[in-house]
Amino acid sequence: MIYTGWSSSFAFGNTIFLQRGADEELLKHEFGHIMQERFLGTPLYLLLIGLPSVLSFTFANDLHYRMPWERWADQLIRDNIDPDHDVPPPLTWPEVRDIFGLSDNIGLTQEEFRAMPKAK
Ligand SMILES: [Zn+2]
Repeated sequence: MIYTGWSSSFAFGNTIFLQRGADEELLKHEFGHIMQERFLGTPLYLLLIGLPSVLSFTFANDLHYRMPWERWADQLIRDNIDPDHDVPPPLTWPEVRDIFGLSDNIGLTQEEFRAMPKAK
């Protein structure tokens, strides 16, 4: 583990780069990312965790820790290391909609949706 002078933390190549003032919970979270990298292998880790993480940290910072790739890191800690570790709640549909600027209109009214044929 390396303490950096930066204002964000990350984990890569079996090393946790921890920001100034980080607490134990953040250290555990970053260790969850180490577990993800071991599980996925480095190329997939960078593609499925590293890249989305940089994007959500940059463009949806207030919801960053509730993204699936971040919650998975916390879930790994809860399941394997600390049963009391907090896993933030998943995103709701309205939050996802707002991030991508999507309309609430999915192209059907409730009546049209209810009138659809049922799957057998
Ligand atoms: Zn993270």
